[in-house]
Amino acid sequence: MAVHGRFDLHTHSTVSDGTEAPGAVVRQAARASLAGLALTDHDSTAGWADAISAAIDEGVGLLPGIELSTRSGWRSVHMLGYLIDPDEPGLLAETGRIRASRRDRARRIVDSIGVDYPITWDDVVAQTAPGATVGRPHIADALVALGIEPDRSAAFAGVLHPRRGYIEPHHAPSPAEGVALIRAAGGVPVLAHPGATREEWVIPAEDVAALVDAGLFGIEVDHPENTRGGGRVAADLARRFGLPITGSSDYHGTGKPNRLGDRTTAPEVVDAIIAEGSGTPPILP
Ligand code: AMP
Ligand code: FE
Ligand code: FE
Ligand code: ZN
Repeated sequence: MAVHGRFDLHTHSTVSDGTEAPGAVVRQAARASLAGLALTDHDSTAGWADAISAAIDEGVGLLPGIELSTRSGWRSVHMLGYLIDPDEPGLLAETGRIRASRRDRARRIVDSIGVDYPITWDDVVAQTAPGATVGRPHIADALVALGIEPDRSAAFAGVLHPRRGYIEPHHAPSPAEGVALIRAAGGVPVLAHPGATREEWVIPAEDVAALVDAGLFGIEVDHPENTRGGGRVAADLARRFGLPITGSSDYHGTGKPNRLGDRTTAPEVVDAIIAEGSGTPPILP
């Protein structure tokens, strides 16, 4: 069955660091006249049920997905996984480890910021939906609520900038392990936003070659946060390895300037993802 129209294949809800409930994100996609979307919360599938029922109500397409946190040395690498089986034990165990480590890490970061600014863990909990994957955005929201920073983006450029010395990494599998975990769960792995960084920091081609060997499907080439040089290198990588390209907004509600449907993916590529995914069926109108 072929899809008609374009899909926004990367969005976040309150299940991670977006500001709208999963069903609200889906309803917005319907209002924006998108053919469909993917819900890809960080390291969690807890928003799927709400998103699926909204997609059925609205008659909009939905690829249930995830954005898996992986890391290669100092480089944080995000791996989108579409149509995974949310109960597959390997992926379930790994996302559980990542979320627990994110929570411990966020507490340590807040303790360390708390030495210099009047912020406590309770301030962050107050900004985080119960059970959500916690990250720097929730600490940013607490800093904003306390009047220490004016908004999320300013917090990332200010107190939460790695240069300030408060930030530390959390546990994450390697990118190739991430690809393998998504494939083992019947999912379709797409390298998220490699171009959203300075040209000289884009993931090297030899690393992408290893991801292709592990089963990488495609690359998210079209992304609102691409730098000029980074976007070009990302497009070159997709061409060089003959990989399908996706486009997405990486919508976070009011948490980021990215607008839903600002970038989208061609229907042929959505069809190819649906053909390769076996962990969970898509919702198609
Ligand atoms: P973390 O994974 O906890 O290190 O936080 C990184 C996440 O913060 C990314 O996945 C983005 O979703 C979000 N983020 C990064 N930069 C910004 C920004 N300037 N404004 C809002 N959110 C951001
Ligand atoms: Fe995010
Ligand atoms: Fe990301
Ligand atoms: Zn994202």
